[in-house]
Amino acid sequence: MLQSQLFTKTSKDTHADSDSINADLLTRAGFISKTMAGVYSFLPLGYRVIRKIEQIVREEMDGIGGQEILMSALAPKAVWEKTGRWKTMDVLFKVPAAGDQEYALNPTHEEIVAPIARTFLRSYRDLPFACYQIQTKFRNELRAKSGVLRGREFIMKDLYSFHQDIADLDRYYAIAQGAYDRIFARLGLENRTFLTYASGGTFSQYSHEYQVVLPQGEDQIFVSIEAEKQGKRIAVNKEIFEEGKTVCPVTGGKEFRAEKASEAGNIFKLGTKFSEPFELQFADEAGKLCTPVMGCYGIGISRLMGIVAEACADEAGLRWPEAIAPYRVHILSLARSRDEESWKLAHDLAKRLPESLLDDRIDLGAGARFADSDLIGIPRRIVISPKSLTAGGVEVKDRMTGAVNIVALDALV
Ligand code: ATP
Ligand code: MG
Repeated sequence: MLQSQLFTKTSKDTHADSDSINADLLTRAGFISKTMAGVYSFLPLGYRVIRKIEQIVREEMDGIGGQEILMSALAPKAVWEKTGRWKTMDVLFKVPAAGDQEYALNPTHEEIVAPIARTFLRSYRDLPFACYQIQTKFRNELRAKSGVLRGREFIMKDLYSFHQDIADLDRYYAIAQGAYDRIFARLGLENRTFLTYASGGTFSQYSHEYQVVLPQGEDQIFVSIEAEKQGKRIAVNKEIFEEGKTVCPVTGGKEFRAEKASEAGNIFKLGTKFSEPFELQFADEAGKLCTPVMGCYGIGISRLMGIVAEACADEAGLRWPEAIAPYRVHILSLARSRDEESWKLAHDLAKRLPESLLDDRIDLGAGARFADSDLIGIPRRIVISPKSLTAGGVEVKDRMTGAVNIVALDALV
Protein backbone atom coordinates (compact mmCIF):
# COMPACT_ATOMS: atom_id res chain seq x y z
CA MET A 1 0.00 0.00 0.00
CA LEU A 2 1.27 3.43 -0.91
CA GLN A 3 0.84 5.90 1.89
CA SER A 4 0.28 8.70 -0.62
CA GLN A 5 -2.86 6.84 -1.68
CA LEU A 6 -4.25 6.41 1.81
CA PHE A 7 -7.22 8.74 1.97
CA THR A 8 -6.80 9.24 5.70
CA LYS A 9 -4.09 11.41 7.18
CA THR A 10 -2.54 11.79 10.58
CA SER A 11 -3.32 14.93 12.50
CA LYS A 12 -1.62 16.85 15.26
CA ASP A 13 -4.76 18.17 16.90
CA THR A 14 -5.84 16.61 20.08
CA HIS A 15 -9.48 16.08 19.50
CA ALA A 16 -12.49 16.53 21.72
CA ASP A 17 -11.81 12.95 22.81
CA SER A 18 -8.45 13.72 24.35
CA ASP A 19 -9.59 12.55 27.80
CA SER A 20 -9.40 9.04 26.39
CA ILE A 21 -5.92 7.83 25.44
CA ASN A 22 -7.18 5.30 22.89
CA ALA A 23 -9.55 7.72 21.15
CA ASP A 24 -6.90 10.42 21.05
CA LEU A 25 -4.19 8.20 19.56
CA LEU A 26 -6.45 6.25 17.21
CA THR A 27 -8.03 9.47 15.92
CA ARG A 28 -4.75 11.30 15.43
CA ALA A 29 -3.25 8.31 13.66
CA GLY A 30 -6.28 8.10 11.36
CA PHE A 31 -7.56 4.70 12.54
CA ILE A 32 -11.02 5.79 13.67
CA SER A 33 -13.40 8.66 13.15
CA LYS A 34 -15.90 9.76 15.74
CA THR A 35 -19.45 10.01 14.46
CA MET A 36 -20.88 11.07 17.82
CA ALA A 37 -20.29 10.25 21.47
CA GLY A 38 -19.70 6.51 21.76
CA VAL A 39 -20.05 5.90 18.03
CA TYR A 40 -17.01 5.44 15.80
CA SER A 41 -16.26 4.51 12.22
CA PHE A 42 -13.24 2.38 11.45
CA LEU A 43 -10.95 3.75 8.75
CA PRO A 44 -8.56 1.72 6.53
CA LEU A 45 -5.76 1.31 9.09
CA GLY A 46 -8.16 0.78 11.99
CA TYR A 47 -10.36 -1.65 10.14
CA ARG A 48 -7.32 -3.78 9.29
CA VAL A 49 -6.61 -4.04 13.02
CA ILE A 50 -10.24 -4.91 13.74
CA ARG A 51 -10.23 -7.62 11.08
CA LYS A 52 -7.05 -9.14 12.48
CA ILE A 53 -8.48 -9.24 15.99
CA GLU A 54 -11.65 -10.79 14.57
CA GLN A 55 -9.63 -13.40 12.73
CA ILE A 56 -7.73 -14.47 15.85
CA VAL A 57 -10.98 -14.74 17.77
CA ARG A 58 -12.65 -16.54 14.86
CA GLU A 59 -9.86 -19.13 14.61
CA GLU A 60 -10.07 -19.87 18.32
CA MET A 61 -13.86 -20.12 18.27
CA ASP A 62 -13.75 -22.44 15.26
CA GLY A 63 -11.11 -24.41 17.15
CA ILE A 64 -13.54 -25.22 19.97
CA GLY A 65 -16.30 -26.24 17.59
CA GLY A 66 -18.11 -22.92 17.43
CA GLN A 67 -20.17 -22.57 14.25
CA GLU A 68 -20.15 -19.05 12.89
CA ILE A 69 -23.47 -17.37 12.18
CA LEU A 70 -24.71 -13.82 11.80
CA MET A 71 -27.84 -12.92 13.69
CA SER A 72 -30.11 -9.98 13.10
CA ALA A 73 -29.35 -6.63 14.67
CA LEU A 74 -33.04 -5.77 14.96
CA ALA A 75 -35.40 -7.74 17.16
CA PRO A 76 -39.14 -7.72 17.73
CA LYS A 77 -40.25 -6.34 21.07
CA ALA A 78 -41.91 -9.68 21.89
CA VAL A 79 -38.66 -11.64 22.44
CA TRP A 80 -37.34 -8.99 24.78
CA GLU A 81 -40.62 -8.96 26.64
CA LYS A 82 -40.54 -12.73 26.96
CA THR A 83 -37.43 -12.55 29.17
CA GLY A 84 -38.57 -9.40 30.93
CA ARG A 85 -35.53 -7.54 29.66
CA TRP A 86 -37.57 -5.06 27.56
CA LYS A 87 -38.19 -3.35 30.90
CA THR A 88 -35.12 -4.24 32.93
CA MET A 89 -32.25 -3.75 30.49
CA ASP A 90 -31.56 -0.06 30.85
CA VAL A 91 -29.14 0.14 27.91
CA LEU A 92 -31.63 -1.33 25.41
CA PHE A 93 -32.15 0.86 22.35
CA LYS A 94 -35.83 0.85 21.42
CA VAL A 95 -36.67 1.98 17.94
CA PRO A 96 -40.04 2.79 16.45
CA ALA A 97 -41.10 0.59 13.54
CA ALA A 98 -43.88 0.70 10.96
CA GLY A 99 -47.34 1.13 12.38
CA ASP A 100 -47.21 1.42 16.13
CA GLN A 101 -44.66 -1.36 16.54
CA GLU A 102 -41.37 -1.12 18.36
CA TYR A 103 -38.15 -2.97 17.78
CA ALA A 104 -35.02 -3.45 19.84
CA LEU A 105 -31.49 -2.97 18.53
CA ASN A 106 -29.84 -6.00 20.07
CA PRO A 107 -27.30 -5.26 22.82
CA THR A 108 -26.65 -9.04 23.16
CA HIS A 109 -28.26 -12.03 21.47
CA GLU A 110 -29.64 -14.58 23.94
CA GLU A 111 -33.16 -13.49 22.92
CA ILE A 112 -32.34 -14.26 19.28
CA VAL A 113 -30.21 -17.38 19.57
CA ALA A 114 -32.55 -19.24 21.90
CA PRO A 115 -35.51 -19.24 19.47
CA ILE A 116 -33.13 -20.27 16.67
CA ALA A 117 -31.88 -23.21 18.72
CA ARG A 118 -35.46 -24.17 19.54
CA THR A 119 -36.21 -24.62 15.84
CA PHE A 120 -33.65 -27.37 15.49
CA LEU A 121 -33.34 -29.02 18.89
CA ARG A 122 -35.13 -32.38 19.22
CA SER A 123 -33.08 -34.97 20.99
CA TYR A 124 -30.07 -35.40 23.23
CA ARG A 125 -28.23 -36.45 20.06
CA ASP A 126 -28.43 -32.81 18.88
CA LEU A 127 -26.41 -31.69 21.92
CA PRO A 128 -23.99 -30.22 22.67
CA PHE A 129 -23.49 -27.49 20.11
CA ALA A 130 -22.15 -23.97 20.07
CA CYS A 131 -22.57 -21.09 17.67
CA TYR A 132 -21.07 -17.63 17.59
CA GLN A 133 -21.06 -14.41 15.67
CA ILE A 134 -18.96 -11.30 15.28
CA GLN A 135 -21.31 -8.40 15.02
CA THR A 136 -22.21 -4.86 15.89
CA LYS A 137 -24.02 -4.43 19.19
CA PHE A 138 -25.99 -1.41 20.37
CA ARG A 139 -26.17 -0.21 23.95
CA ASN A 140 -27.44 3.09 25.17
CA GLU A 141 -24.59 3.50 27.62
CA LEU A 142 -25.02 6.32 30.09
CA ARG A 143 -21.39 7.37 29.86
CA ALA A 144 -19.43 7.00 26.67
CA LYS A 145 -16.20 8.75 27.50
CA SER A 146 -13.63 6.04 27.06
CA GLY A 147 -13.32 6.07 23.29
CA VAL A 148 -13.74 2.62 21.77
CA LEU A 149 -13.59 1.06 25.23
CA ARG A 150 -17.22 1.96 25.84
CA GLY A 151 -19.23 2.61 22.73
CA ARG A 152 -22.94 2.91 22.14
CA GLU A 153 -22.26 0.91 19.02
CA PHE A 154 -19.43 -1.62 19.16
CA ILE A 155 -18.21 -4.91 17.77
CA MET A 156 -18.53 -8.03 19.88
CA LYS A 157 -17.95 -11.72 19.46
CA ASP A 158 -20.61 -13.71 21.25
CA LEU A 159 -20.62 -17.49 21.50
CA TYR A 160 -23.55 -19.48 22.89
CA SER A 161 -23.34 -23.12 23.91
CA PHE A 162 -26.14 -25.61 24.53
CA HIS A 163 -25.84 -28.70 26.72
CA GLN A 164 -27.74 -31.67 28.02
CA ASP A 165 -26.70 -31.09 31.61
CA ILE A 166 -24.55 -28.97 33.88
CA ALA A 167 -21.66 -31.42 33.80
CA ASP A 168 -21.41 -31.02 30.05
CA LEU A 169 -21.68 -27.21 30.34
CA ASP A 170 -18.84 -27.29 32.90
CA ARG A 171 -16.74 -29.39 30.53
CA TYR A 172 -17.24 -26.99 27.63
CA TYR A 173 -16.83 -23.91 29.81
CA ALA A 174 -13.30 -25.07 30.67
CA ILE A 175 -12.57 -25.61 26.98
CA ALA A 176 -13.82 -22.09 26.19
CA GLN A 177 -11.52 -20.73 28.92
CA GLY A 178 -8.62 -22.39 27.13
CA ALA A 179 -9.61 -20.66 23.90
CA TYR A 180 -9.83 -17.31 25.70
CA ASP A 181 -6.35 -17.82 27.17
CA ARG A 182 -5.02 -18.44 23.67
CA ILE A 183 -6.73 -15.34 22.32
CA PHE A 184 -5.13 -13.10 24.93
CA ALA A 185 -1.75 -14.74 24.39
CA ARG A 186 -2.00 -14.21 20.63
CA LEU A 187 -2.90 -10.56 21.19
CA GLY A 188 0.23 -10.14 23.27
CA LEU A 189 -1.82 -9.36 26.37
CA GLU A 190 -1.28 -12.51 28.40
CA ASN A 191 0.92 -10.92 31.04
CA ARG A 192 -1.63 -8.25 31.87
CA THR A 193 -4.84 -10.29 31.58
CA PHE A 194 -6.42 -11.59 34.78
CA LEU A 195 -9.11 -14.24 35.03
CA THR A 196 -11.43 -12.30 37.28
CA TYR A 197 -14.14 -13.84 39.42
CA ALA A 198 -17.39 -11.90 39.35
CA SER A 199 -20.85 -12.71 40.61
CA GLY A 200 -22.53 -15.39 38.52
CA GLY A 201 -26.18 -14.45 38.79
CA THR A 202 -28.71 -17.00 39.99
CA PHE A 203 -27.30 -20.09 38.31
CA SER A 204 -23.65 -20.32 39.29
CA GLN A 205 -21.56 -18.80 42.01
CA TYR A 206 -19.21 -17.04 39.63
CA SER A 207 -18.93 -15.67 36.16
CA HIS A 208 -15.51 -14.93 34.75
CA GLU A 209 -14.24 -11.71 33.32
CA TYR A 210 -11.04 -11.34 31.35
CA GLN A 211 -9.71 -8.10 32.74
CA VAL A 212 -6.72 -6.39 31.18
CA VAL A 213 -4.74 -4.15 33.51
CA LEU A 214 -4.84 -0.63 32.10
CA PRO A 215 -4.02 2.64 33.91
CA GLN A 216 -7.17 4.34 32.52
CA GLY A 217 -9.40 1.27 32.79
CA GLU A 218 -12.93 1.81 34.11
CA ASP A 219 -12.92 -1.24 36.36
CA GLN A 220 -11.08 -1.99 39.54
CA ILE A 221 -9.95 -5.53 40.19
CA PHE A 222 -8.23 -7.15 43.13
CA VAL A 223 -5.33 -9.30 42.03
CA SER A 224 -4.63 -12.36 44.17
CA ILE A 225 -1.05 -12.16 45.39
CA GLU A 226 -1.03 -15.80 46.44
CA ALA A 227 -2.05 -16.82 42.91
CA GLU A 228 0.64 -14.58 41.47
CA LYS A 229 3.26 -16.39 43.56
CA GLN A 230 2.07 -19.60 41.93
CA GLY A 231 2.41 -18.06 38.48
CA LYS A 232 -1.35 -17.67 37.94
CA ARG A 233 -3.13 -14.45 37.06
CA ILE A 234 -6.33 -14.48 39.12
CA ALA A 235 -8.36 -11.54 40.41
CA VAL A 236 -11.66 -10.74 42.07
CA ASN A 237 -14.10 -8.15 40.75
CA LYS A 238 -14.81 -5.05 42.85
CA GLU A 239 -18.49 -5.98 43.33
CA ILE A 240 -17.65 -9.20 45.16
CA PHE A 241 -14.62 -7.97 47.00
CA GLU A 242 -14.73 -7.33 50.74
CA GLU A 243 -11.54 -6.24 52.44
CA GLY A 244 -10.40 -8.82 54.95
CA LYS A 245 -13.17 -11.27 54.03
CA THR A 246 -12.70 -12.23 50.39
CA VAL A 247 -10.52 -15.24 49.70
CA CYS A 248 -9.03 -16.04 46.32
CA PRO A 249 -11.35 -18.67 44.76
CA VAL A 250 -8.34 -20.47 43.26
CA THR A 251 -5.70 -20.41 45.99
CA GLY A 252 -7.59 -19.49 49.15
CA GLY A 253 -5.14 -16.61 49.64
CA LYS A 254 -6.32 -13.47 51.40
CA GLU A 255 -3.81 -10.95 50.10
CA PHE A 256 -4.83 -8.73 47.19
CA ARG A 257 -3.56 -5.74 45.30
CA ALA A 258 -5.91 -3.29 43.57
CA GLU A 259 -5.43 -2.57 39.87
CA LYS A 260 -7.28 -0.54 37.28
CA ALA A 261 -8.43 -2.69 34.39
CA SER A 262 -10.70 -2.96 31.37
CA GLU A 263 -12.97 -5.95 30.84
CA ALA A 264 -12.14 -7.50 27.47
CA GLY A 265 -14.27 -10.61 27.83
CA ASN A 266 -16.96 -12.09 30.03
CA ILE A 267 -18.15 -15.69 30.20
CA PHE A 268 -21.25 -16.95 31.97
CA LYS A 269 -23.03 -20.15 32.80
CA LEU A 270 -26.61 -19.21 31.99
CA GLY A 271 -28.27 -22.43 33.11
CA THR A 272 -31.88 -22.42 31.92
CA LYS A 273 -32.33 -18.65 32.20
CA PHE A 274 -33.04 -18.38 28.46
CA SER A 275 -33.87 -21.95 27.48
CA GLU A 276 -36.86 -21.93 29.85
CA PRO A 277 -38.71 -18.82 28.64
CA PHE A 278 -38.15 -19.82 25.03
CA GLU A 279 -39.24 -23.39 25.79
CA LEU A 280 -36.20 -25.19 24.47
CA GLN A 281 -36.57 -28.90 25.02
CA PHE A 282 -34.94 -32.14 24.02
CA ALA A 283 -35.82 -35.78 24.54
CA ASP A 284 -33.23 -37.60 26.64
CA GLU A 285 -32.16 -41.25 26.22
CA ALA A 286 -35.34 -42.41 27.92
CA GLY A 287 -37.53 -40.14 25.81
CA LYS A 288 -38.21 -37.74 28.66
CA LEU A 289 -38.41 -34.04 27.75
CA CYS A 290 -35.68 -31.94 29.38
CA THR A 291 -34.55 -28.31 29.25
CA PRO A 292 -31.01 -27.73 27.99
CA VAL A 293 -28.56 -25.50 29.83
CA MET A 294 -26.66 -22.71 28.12
CA GLY A 295 -23.37 -20.87 28.38
CA CYS A 296 -22.47 -17.51 26.84
CA TYR A 297 -19.03 -16.20 26.04
CA GLY A 298 -18.49 -12.59 25.00
CA ILE A 299 -15.43 -10.69 23.90
CA GLY A 300 -15.21 -7.04 22.92
CA ILE A 301 -13.53 -6.82 19.52
CA SER A 302 -13.51 -3.03 19.19
CA ARG A 303 -12.81 -2.61 22.90
CA LEU A 304 -9.78 -4.87 22.46
CA MET A 305 -8.43 -2.56 19.78
CA GLY A 306 -8.62 0.28 22.33
CA ILE A 307 -7.11 -1.85 25.08
CA VAL A 308 -4.12 -2.85 22.96
CA ALA A 309 -3.72 0.74 21.76
CA GLU A 310 -3.56 2.01 25.34
CA ALA A 311 -1.59 -0.88 26.76
CA CYS A 312 1.19 -0.70 24.18
CA ALA A 313 1.47 3.01 23.33
CA ASP A 314 4.40 5.24 24.26
CA GLU A 315 4.83 9.05 24.12
CA ALA A 316 5.40 8.95 20.36
CA GLY A 317 2.25 7.00 19.53
CA LEU A 318 0.82 3.56 18.90
CA ARG A 319 2.88 0.36 19.01
CA TRP A 320 1.02 -2.59 17.53
CA PRO A 321 1.93 -6.16 18.35
CA GLU A 322 2.81 -8.02 15.16
CA ALA A 323 -0.34 -10.18 15.29
CA ILE A 324 -2.78 -7.30 14.87
CA ALA A 325 -0.72 -4.52 13.30
CA PRO A 326 -2.40 -2.82 10.33
CA TYR A 327 0.73 -3.56 8.29
CA ARG A 328 3.78 -5.56 9.22
CA VAL A 329 6.44 -3.29 7.73
CA HIS A 330 6.59 0.44 7.24
CA ILE A 331 8.99 1.37 4.46
CA LEU A 332 10.08 5.00 4.36
CA SER A 333 11.57 6.12 1.12
CA LEU A 334 13.72 9.18 1.71
CA ALA A 335 14.52 9.71 -1.97
CA ARG A 336 14.19 13.36 -3.07
CA SER A 337 13.20 12.60 -6.60
CA ARG A 338 11.49 9.75 -8.41
CA ASP A 339 14.58 9.21 -10.57
CA GLU A 340 16.72 8.10 -7.70
CA GLU A 341 17.71 4.48 -7.50
CA SER A 342 16.65 4.32 -3.85
CA TRP A 343 13.11 5.34 -4.86
CA LYS A 344 12.86 2.38 -7.19
CA LEU A 345 14.44 0.13 -4.62
CA ALA A 346 11.89 1.10 -1.98
CA HIS A 347 9.06 0.32 -4.41
CA ASP A 348 10.57 -3.04 -5.35
CA LEU A 349 10.90 -3.91 -1.70
CA ALA A 350 7.31 -2.88 -0.95
CA LYS A 351 6.09 -5.18 -3.70
CA ARG A 352 8.05 -8.10 -2.32
CA LEU A 353 7.31 -7.65 1.38
CA PRO A 354 3.82 -8.81 2.24
CA GLU A 355 1.69 -6.38 4.22
CA SER A 356 3.93 -3.38 3.78
CA LEU A 357 3.02 0.29 3.82
CA LEU A 358 5.34 2.44 1.73
CA ASP A 359 5.66 6.08 2.70
CA ASP A 360 6.19 7.62 -0.73
CA ARG A 361 5.12 11.14 0.22
CA ILE A 362 8.10 12.68 -1.49
CA ASP A 363 7.19 16.30 -0.69
CA LEU A 364 6.95 15.78 3.04
CA GLY A 365 9.98 16.34 5.25
CA ALA A 366 11.73 13.38 6.84
CA GLY A 367 10.97 14.56 10.37
CA ALA A 368 7.24 14.65 9.79
CA ARG A 369 7.33 11.22 8.21
CA PHE A 370 9.26 9.68 11.11
CA ALA A 371 6.76 11.22 13.51
CA ASP A 372 3.85 9.79 11.50
CA SER A 373 5.50 6.41 11.43
CA ASP A 374 5.89 6.45 15.21
CA LEU A 375 2.28 7.55 15.65
CA ILE A 376 0.86 4.82 13.38
CA GLY A 377 2.97 2.22 15.15
CA ILE A 378 3.70 -0.45 12.54
CA PRO A 379 6.04 -2.97 14.23
CA ARG A 380 9.01 -2.65 11.84
CA ARG A 381 10.34 0.40 10.03
CA ILE A 382 12.77 0.26 7.15
CA VAL A 383 14.28 3.51 5.93
CA ILE A 384 15.56 3.51 2.38
CA SER A 385 17.70 6.45 1.40
CA PRO A 386 20.53 7.03 -1.06
CA LYS A 387 22.80 6.52 1.95
CA SER A 388 21.48 3.05 2.62
CA LEU A 389 22.36 2.10 -0.93
CA THR A 390 26.03 2.92 -0.50
CA ALA A 391 26.10 1.25 2.90
CA GLY A 392 24.64 -1.92 1.38
CA GLY A 393 22.36 -2.45 4.33
CA VAL A 394 19.30 -0.74 5.78
CA GLU A 395 18.22 0.12 9.26
CA VAL A 396 15.34 -1.95 10.53
CA LYS A 397 13.82 -0.44 13.62
CA ASP A 398 11.57 -2.35 15.98
CA ARG A 399 8.80 0.04 17.07
CA MET A 400 8.00 -1.89 20.25
CA THR A 401 11.55 -2.14 21.64
CA GLY A 402 13.29 0.62 19.74
CA ALA A 403 16.03 -1.85 18.77
CA VAL A 404 17.80 -1.10 15.50
CA ASN A 405 19.36 -3.73 13.26
CA ILE A 406 21.34 -3.23 10.09
CA VAL A 407 20.12 -5.76 7.57
CA ALA A 408 21.62 -6.41 4.14
CA LEU A 409 19.16 -5.39 1.43
CA ASP A 410 19.10 -8.84 -0.15
CA ALA A 411 18.32 -10.42 3.21
CA LEU A 412 15.23 -8.29 3.84
CA VAL A 413 12.66 -10.38 2.03
P1 ATP B 1 -19.11 -3.84 31.02
O1 ATP B 1 -18.99 -4.56 32.32
O2 ATP B 1 -17.81 -3.27 30.56
O3 ATP B 1 -20.23 -2.86 30.96
P2 ATP B 1 -20.62 -6.07 30.12
O4 ATP B 1 -20.30 -6.93 31.27
O5 ATP B 1 -21.94 -5.45 30.05
O6 ATP B 1 -19.48 -4.94 29.93
P3 ATP B 1 -20.94 -8.16 28.18
O7 ATP B 1 -22.37 -8.00 28.01
O8 ATP B 1 -20.46 -9.36 28.92
O9 ATP B 1 -20.31 -6.84 28.78
O10 ATP B 1 -20.23 -8.06 26.77
C1 ATP B 1 -19.10 -8.82 26.38
C2 ATP B 1 -17.93 -7.93 26.06
O11 ATP B 1 -18.31 -6.89 25.17
C3 ATP B 1 -17.38 -7.19 27.25
O12 ATP B 1 -16.51 -8.01 27.97
C4 ATP B 1 -16.66 -6.02 26.59
O13 ATP B 1 -15.37 -6.42 26.14
C5 ATP B 1 -17.53 -5.74 25.40
N1 ATP B 1 -18.39 -4.59 25.66
C6 ATP B 1 -19.46 -4.52 26.48
N2 ATP B 1 -20.01 -3.31 26.47
C7 ATP B 1 -19.26 -2.56 25.61
C8 ATP B 1 -19.32 -1.21 25.16
N3 ATP B 1 -20.28 -0.39 25.57
N4 ATP B 1 -18.38 -0.79 24.27
C9 ATP B 1 -17.41 -1.61 23.83
N5 ATP B 1 -17.30 -2.90 24.22
C10 ATP B 1 -18.21 -3.37 25.10
MG1 MG C 1 -19.07 -6.69 32.85
